[in-house]
Amino acid sequence: MDAVRVCALTHRFGDGEAAKPVLHGLDLRVGAGEVVLLTGPSGSGKTTLLTLIGGLRAVQEGSCVVLGTELAGADEAARVAVRRRVGFIFQHHNLLGFLTAQQNVAMALEVDASLSERERLDRADAMLHAVGIGEKARADPATLSGGQRQRVAIARALVHGPGLILADEPTAALDGKTGGETMRLLQRLAKEQRRTVFIVTHDPRIHDIADRIIAMEDGRIVEGAHA
Ligand code: ADP
Ligand code: MG
Repeated sequence: MDAVRVCALTHRFGDGEAAKPVLHGLDLRVGAGEVVLLTGPSGSGKTTLLTLIGGLRAVQEGSCVVLGTELAGADEAARVAVRRRVGFIFQHHNLLGFLTAQQNVAMALEVDASLSERERLDRADAMLHAVGIGEKARADPATLSGGQRQRVAIARALVHGPGLILADEPTAALDGKTGGETMRLLQRLAKEQRRTVFIVTHDPRIHDIADRIIAMEDGRIVEGAHA
């Protein structure tokens, strides 16, 4: 089964006559276990597409099936259910400053009521080891480097075993070397754990991690939509 299947997806901002489409009838699929990059100039609609796939905004027109759930016409509860099966990584790590690295990662497991606090913290610890910063589990985010913080964000996105990982410009706040290392780490873990990853990026230095690169321009896919 594909992780993502988008058909004739159109999206507009604004109302009525003034509403101009920012996505024009997109077709796109991402197979299970693929690592796909989405590139394109600023304003081409990449973030809009990513937020639709992640169930962060309502589908207006067309079809968007994510992990087997049709998001077109889905209510908020159905979107929340999809969001819980997705791991998100953003440009800014979005870690909570008053929690340790380990607590930030453990928070992603709170949706699973069957886990005890101890189990959540243990899994967070294991995931921080997997991203190479096990010794920073008890550190506050403010004391970590940008690359370390983004590793915590990767641990948080992976710890609940998501069917899909969505990342929006994850290297934008990092220097080139750190950004490349961090994304190669994400790619390695994704392949080991057979996760599907969809990354929006401007960064040509991480193109080598992709199974496939999709290019967008002015709300249209111009290259690479299908495997
Ligand atoms: P990208 O991520 O490729 O830079 P976006 O998806 O953020 O592109 O934006 C695509 C277009 O939609 C741009 O013209 C942007 O100005 C517009 N846009 C994005 N978000 C909103 C919004 N919340 N309201 C109105 N217009 C928006
Ligand atoms: Mg964007």
